[in-house]
Amino acid sequence: MDKLKYFLAFLLLFSFTISGFGQVSPLDPNREIPKRKLLIRGLKTPVDLLISGGTIVTMNEKREIIEDGAVAVSNGEIFLIGKRLDIAKQVIPKRIINATGKVIIPGLINTHTHVPMTLFRGISDDLDLQDWLTKYIFPAEAKNVDEQFVRAGTRLGLAEMIRGGTTTYCDMYYFEDAIADESKKAGVRGVLGETIIDFPVADNKTNAEAMAYAERFVKKWQNDPLIVPAIAPHAPYTVSTEHLKAIRALSDKYNAAVVTHIAETKKERDDIKKQYGDTPMTYLNKIGFLSNRVIAAHTVWITDNEIDIMKRIGVGSAHCPQSNMKLASGVAPVPAMLAKDLAIGLGTDGAASNNDLNMWEEMDTAAKLHKLISGDPKTLPAEQAFEMATIRGARALHLDSLIGSLEAGKRADIDIVDLDDLNQTPYYNLYSHLVYATKANDVRTVIINGRLVMLDRRLLTLNENVIKKDANAYREKIIKSLRN
Ligand SMILES: [Zn+2]
Repeated sequence: MDKLKYFLAFLLLFSFTISGFGQVSPLDPNREIPKRKLLIRGLKTPVDLLISGGTIVTMNEKREIIEDGAVAVSNGEIFLIGKRLDIAKQVIPKRIINATGKVIIPGLINTHTHVPMTLFRGISDDLDLQDWLTKYIFPAEAKNVDEQFVRAGTRLGLAEMIRGGTTTYCDMYYFEDAIADESKKAGVRGVLGETIIDFPVADNKTNAEAMAYAERFVKKWQNDPLIVPAIAPHAPYTVSTEHLKAIRALSDKYNAAVVTHIAETKKERDDIKKQYGDTPMTYLNKIGFLSNRVIAAHTVWITDNEIDIMKRIGVGSAHCPQSNMKLASGVAPVPAMLAKDLAIGLGTDGAASNNDLNMWEEMDTAAKLHKLISGDPKTLPAEQAFEMATIRGARALHLDSLIGSLEAGKRADIDIVDLDDLNQTPYYNLYSHLVYATKANDVRTVIINGRLVMLDRRLLTLNENVIKKDANAYREKIIKSLRN
C-alpha cells in the first residue's frame, strides 16, 4: 500500500513538473508561475534535495525571513519552502544538506558582464574608457579572441561566479554560442547576447554575418532551461540606426532579449546628441528600438524624462558601480530610478574594467556610492542593495517569474552562505551583514536549476586547476601579441 502511495505521489509530482520550463519562452509576457504545490494529507512526497536548517532570506513580496527553515527541491524547482519541522513532515528527500547556522539566499544575479574578458583582467588600468577601449581592449581582442579563447575565459569566469554565489549572469561578447555551451556544461544560468557592432570582429566580419549568427543562436537556444539567448548591439555609438532597427525586428520575431550599453559616458551622450539631435535613450526611443525585452547596461547619463520612458516601456537596467567608478564614467541616478520602481539590477561589467566578477562588492559599493553622492546615509539601504542583486536584478533581466526569490514554483537557484567567519563576527542584522560584511569566500554551497554546482567550496562542474593553467597560458600569448 505504501509503495502504491509513493508511486501515485510521484506520478502526480511528475505530471505537475514536466509541463514546466521548456515550452514557454522565459520572456513571454503572458507566462505565469505554475502552481505546483502538491500536498496530500498523510502522504510524503519524494524530492531530490532538502536544504534543512538555517535562516532563509526569501526576497518574496513580503520579504519574509524564515528562521530554522527548509527548502525542498524537485525537478530543478523549489517544491516547498517553510519551517524545517513543517517541511520535514511533507517530503522524503533523496539528499539532505544541513544548513544549520547558515543563511540561505536566492542565487545572486549579475546583470552585466563580458565573461571571457576575465583573460584581460588587469591588462590595462587607470585609463579613460575611449583610450582603454581603442588602445588596449579592441587591439588585444583583434589579436587574441577566437573560439578557444572565449571558452577558456568563460570557464574562468564561470568558476569565479559560482565561487561568489552568482547563479545567473547577463553577458555580451563574441562566439556567444561557445559561451552558452560552456555555461550549460557548468550548469550556470545565463542571458547571453551575441554582440553586433559596426566593424569586423573575431567571429563575424559584416553586419549580415552577425545578424545571421544572432538569428541561428537565438533559434538554437530559445527553449533551453538554462540559457536565454539574446541579441546584443554593442551601443548606439557603434551600431547604426538602420542596424538597430533591424535588431528590434529580429527581437520581435523571436521574442528575444536585447542586451546593450546605453548612456555610459558623457562623451557618448554628447556625441549622440550631436549626431542625432537627442540624448541616447530618447534617440533609441524615437527610432523604436526600446522594448520590454531590452536590458540596458550603465544608463549613467539619463534624464528624469528618460527614466519615465524606461519605466513606461519596461526597459531593464544594469547598474555597474565599480566599472563606472574605475573608468570615471559618472554615477547613474539610481535613487531616482528606484523611486520610480524601475527594474534595475547590479552588474560587474567585464573583468577588464572591474577587475572581478564579485557581486558582493557591487552590493557594498552601490550602497555606499549613492550615500556619498546624495550626501544622505539613508540612501540605498542594505536591504535595497540586496534586492538589486536578487529579485530586482531578475526583473531587470525580465526573468522575475522564474528566479530572484525563494518561492515555491520558482527555479531552484540557491546559495548557502556562512555567517560565522571572522569578518562576520559578531552578527546582529541580516541585510547589513550580507551587504557590508559578507565576502564572496563566505558562499559555501551553490545550487542552480536544482543542480549542485558547488558543495562546501568545492566546484563540482568545473576543474579549477585546468582553468588556471589555461588562463596563464593565454596571459603569455596576450603579452606577446601586444608587443607586436
Ligand atoms: Zn559592458
